[in-house]
Amino acid sequence: WAKSAGGRRWALFDEDRHAREVTRYTLSATMPAALERGEFVVEYQPLVRLADRALLGVEALVRWQHPTLGRLLPDQFIEVAEASGLIVPLGRWVLAEACRQARSWQRDGEPDLVVSVNLSVRQIHQPDLADTVRDVLRQTGLEPRLLQLELTESAVMDTTGEPIRMLRALVAMGVRIAIDDFGTGYSNFAYLCDLPVHNLKLAAQFIEGLWDSQPADPARDRIVATLVGLAHGLGLSATAEGVETAAQEAWLRDLGCDCGQGWLFGRPVPAEEIGRMPRQGEIVRVPRQGGTGRAP
Ligand code: C2E
Ligand code: MG
Ligand code: MG
Ligand code: MG
Repeated sequence: WAKSAGGRRWALFDEDRHAREVTRYTLSATMPAALERGEFVVEYQPLVRLADRALLGVEALVRWQHPTLGRLLPDQFIEVAEASGLIVPLGRWVLAEACRQARSWQRDGEPDLVVSVNLSVRQIHQPDLADTVRDVLRQTGLEPRLLQLELTESAVMDTTGEPIRMLRALVAMGVRIAIDDFGTGYSNFAYLCDLPVHNLKLAAQFIEGLWDSQPADPARDRIVATLVGLAHGLGLSATAEGVETAAQEAWLRDLGCDCGQGWLFGRPVPAEEIGRMPRQGEIVRVPRQGGTGRAP
């Protein structure tokens, strides 16, 4: 789904290669001013415990409220930001904004929510990343245990070992680390032995379409079971991404998968909507049929 949805969004600009280049150039050239002007916003998507649907945290997802192109999703500008290097200041802004928000939720109610922030490969290669994270935590007053950083397999796998040293510094600070889209990068599991991580986020493509058809796709079914087992075997928690149906939820829960994220539990929404979710015994209530809520 992600690909087809992305494809449709891109189709807006996809008239031909030239148009696409022009768009990329325009986005790239206007991005620094857009960051200054506050055109980027962060939305938050619920992360729930599958055993009881308790709201444990949220993932911060950046959007660009573009004055002429409208609302842009990360697939449309993160690559451009990585190419230009603007991902470093943009990523720092997202981190600070998400930590500020998580601290504000903490002031408003119990229990605490963990905020999960995506880091790009460019950020993990910044020698001052640990200092940046420490500064942001100090400035916002957020406890490190309430921050999770998400990195993809390809971002942390690096022959220099630098990303691993950086992750160690972050973990020593008390921050949680998650591997994002787990199972879709290089299938080299050796790095998992050295890696200081807490959480494997199983890529949505393993969950997609699963258990909706009869019979379920046995290969994907086995892969998900094995990845959950791998996480637990290593003492890590497993989070399933892209959970869209109650059947998927039930199966994942029976497998012992710890957490879920997906339209079934809630789409990415502005911070105020997360703030309005019930905070005492806050179980995420899911509409009986299909997903409602805003499109991502
Ligand atoms: P991700 O980190 O894997 O985030 C999950 C993506 O899946 C989000 O897309 C989310 O809206 C979408 N999603 C969640 N549940 C469902 C579901 O049930 N069904 C479907 N069809 N989609 C679902 P989004 O917000 O478009 O973000 C795409 C990617 O952009 C993210 O993938 C992440 O890699 C990247 N990204 C987002 N924000 C940031 C950021 O601040 N910094 C960096 N470096 N990357 C970011
Ligand atoms: Mg993520
Ligand atoms: Mg992901
Ligand atoms: Mg992704």
